Amino acid sequence: HTKTDSVLIVGAGISGIMAAKTLSQNGINDFVILEATERIGGRMREEAFAGGIVEIGANWVEGVHGSKVNPIWTLANKYNLTSFYTDFSNQSSNIYTKNGYVDPSTVTNETKMAEAEKEYVTNLAISKSKNGEQDISILTGQRLFGSVPQTPIEMCLEYQNYDFEFAEPPRVTSLENTHPNPTFRDFGDDEYFVADPRGYSHIVHQLAGDFLQTRNGKITDPRLLLNKVVRKIKYSKDGVKLLTEDGSTYFGKFAIVTASLGVLQSSLIKFQPVLPDWKVEALFQFDMAIYTKIFLRFPYTFWPIYPGAQFLIYCDERRGYYSTWQSLVSFQHLAKEFPGKNMIFVTVTDEESRRIEQLPDKEIKAEIMSVLRKMFGPNIPEIEEMLVPRWGSMKYFKGSYSNWPIGVSDSEFEAIQAPVETLYFAGEHTSQKYSGYVHGAYLTGIEAGKDLVACIKHKKCRKFSQEKHK
Ligand code: FAD
Repeated sequence: HTKTDSVLIVGAGISGIMAAKTLSQNGINDFVILEATERIGGRMREEAFAGGIVEIGANWVEGVHGSKVNPIWTLANKYNLTSFYTDFSNQSSNIYTKNGYVDPSTVTNETKMAEAEKEYVTNLAISKSKNGEQDISILTGQRLFGSVPQTPIEMCLEYQNYDFEFAEPPRVTSLENTHPNPTFRDFGDDEYFVADPRGYSHIVHQLAGDFLQTRNGKITDPRLLLNKVVRKIKYSKDGVKLLTEDGSTYFGKFAIVTASLGVLQSSLIKFQPVLPDWKVEALFQFDMAIYTKIFLRFPYTFWPIYPGAQFLIYCDERRGYYSTWQSLVSFQHLAKEFPGKNMIFVTVTDEESRRIEQLPDKEIKAEIMSVLRKMFGPNIPEIEEMLVPRWGSMKYFKGSYSNWPIGVSDSEFEAIQAPVETLYFAGEHTSQKYSGYVHGAYLTGIEAGKDLVACIKHKKCRKFSQEKHK
């Protein structure tokens, strides 16, 4: 069927929902949201596990208790989402190597060095930005400090400091655009781990329910179309025509594309005419990273559960090899509604994620058991249940979140976000300050909505000046 609408929104993650909501709040109700999957929420996504749910995507509200209030923290409180303060301070007391537990008193030098290095690179980034100096990678900053992590323990402390946040190694990541991280600088250093039976995506459902028709708590609004995979976007200054996989066509005056950077780098959506070079270049210069949380359930808990043992760090000779372990057992005691029974998860990123995604679960299990035996000895029980999200292979995501690589300037970043004729862009990867985070995605949805309100109602349409970028 064919339908005419003012604004076509591709994607019902938090950015797409906020874009629609902003239009609706400004009296523009002629929109359609097309979502490829069977649900709203996108990368805020819970999955059934151990008789309850786990968050395979976003898990933390990052940036809490700072000078500004993180809008996601406000919403988490408004909707009474259960979440727990995450204590990162104690990690050096929970280090393991292939020879088992490491006495914390033997690693004080390494931990002090890692701290001092982190402080140094942050200050270096601040002074470089202030002086308008050219960006360098985090790795170059580390080398200027004089550190070259080499031993398993040095490498995994480094991994915790950088890869665990950005999902890519220091060699790749821009120093000036990540230090200090605007998320923590603006919203505060604290992080809260969401463990709510309704899922982190409950926030998105509530936001959507505020402006879309619902019935018995379910969204029934005909303007939200699920299982609609957009495959072709034809655009000109006069309007947009979208074609979906099931053969439907949608016409609008404008479109807001919120598909992830990974999707835009893939061939899922064909643009006609092809996007201009400045756009394509910017999209391909930026990085889509992979961050994989592997959830495990055991017949009983054999790892330490005292307060402060939320994180267990395994330091292998191979950097980033099943390195960051997080126990879910303590939450189990704190929150009755959290289902976990003897649950723990391990996070891997980047190349390890890519490698693991290609393995059958059986092989992943064997690798994990071998690591755990090194950490806790040979007599531990077998895994009873395991969940391995494969974000890099999921065709409507193609990765987990974007990371700012060395070599992308501010103006190039603007090109990622800039409209092309009647096509507007939103989503995590278009947030200059908070790319990679839920709050970044949320704010870009509002921004794209506002841009269109200004354009439709006041004829003030954003134009991207290509000249600036030459
Ligand atoms: P999405 O949520 O990806 O929404 C885009 C939507 O577009 C999707 O629903 C997708 O199905 C749809 N779509 C794609 N292609 C098409 C198409 N062709 N046609 C129609 N629809 C399409 N952030 C935090 O703040 N804290 C965290 O702890 C955190 N951890 C993370 C861990 C993981 C493993 C992952 C994956 C992400 C994590 N993030 C975290 C990032 C956060 O989840 C994202 O930044 C945010 O959810 C992105 O929202 P979005 O609206 O930009 O994109």
